[in-house]
Amino acid sequence: MRRPVLAANWKMNNGPTAAKTFMDAFLAGYKPRTDRTVIIFPPAVSLPTVAAATSGRSDVIAGIQNIHWAEKGAFTGEVSAPMAADAGARVVLVGHSERRHVFGETDAQCAKKCLAASRAKLAFMLCVGETIQQREAGETESLVTRQLREGLSQTPNLISVDFMLAYEPVWAIGTGLTASAGDASAIHTVLRSELSQMIGTRGDEIPILYGGSVNSTNAASLLGSPEVDGLLVGGASVEASSWLSIAGI
Ligand code: PEP
Repeated sequence: MRRPVLAANWKMNNGPTAAKTFMDAFLAGYKPRTDRTVIIFPPAVSLPTVAAATSGRSDVIAGIQNIHWAEKGAFTGEVSAPMAADAGARVVLVGHSERRHVFGETDAQCAKKCLAASRAKLAFMLCVGETIQQREAGETESLVTRQLREGLSQTPNLISVDFMLAYEPVWAIGTGLTASAGDASAIHTVLRSELSQMIGTRGDEIPILYGGSVNSTNAASLLGSPEVDGLLVGGASVEASSWLSIAGI
């Protein structure tokens, strides 16, 4: 049985002061649960605040939205995987669509980030997903398969690496459009099958999350689909009250 993962991607929202207010409100309302894991991906400057707030909770963990693949050096503005781990992150997002499409991140860079995360003993969540043009051209399956295979291509011993996938159609992120549970399931099935070709039965244990305009109204039906192991939520995770209603479904 894969334990559901409910992940909040705050994007560039909630600096340290707002993060503290959020975490106080969220943790007061979200009683410890053993049937799911909650991950909060704050901006890097708010990571210590979120990590401190979650230190007494094994069911709520802190993550980071992005890392550089190098351990240290002349990369102004970047944060490395060991630094993120030192600041309290336990998981890193890799290849989020905004990283790919706004900042030009490539599959090759994602592959280096997955490797860097695994070396730093951070779990990673590799995001894949198609644009509307790619969907309409019938390229979704081949694209997400390529993003999956190339993203994981540099990480050795995948069988013993802690990672997750998130299927996030680009056309559904922040647009109010959501894939139907059936559409999400179809792509999750493709990803699951690729995983089993790559790592055999270990592939059955890898959570595959759906993301794209999830909110408190559609979360339950998406999570109710047997192929959907969790949700990666952006806009609807920024306010504690909204996130409480999703994390607690
Ligand atoms: C995301 O940021 O990963 C995301 C899915 O955003 P939204 O929920 O706002 O579509």
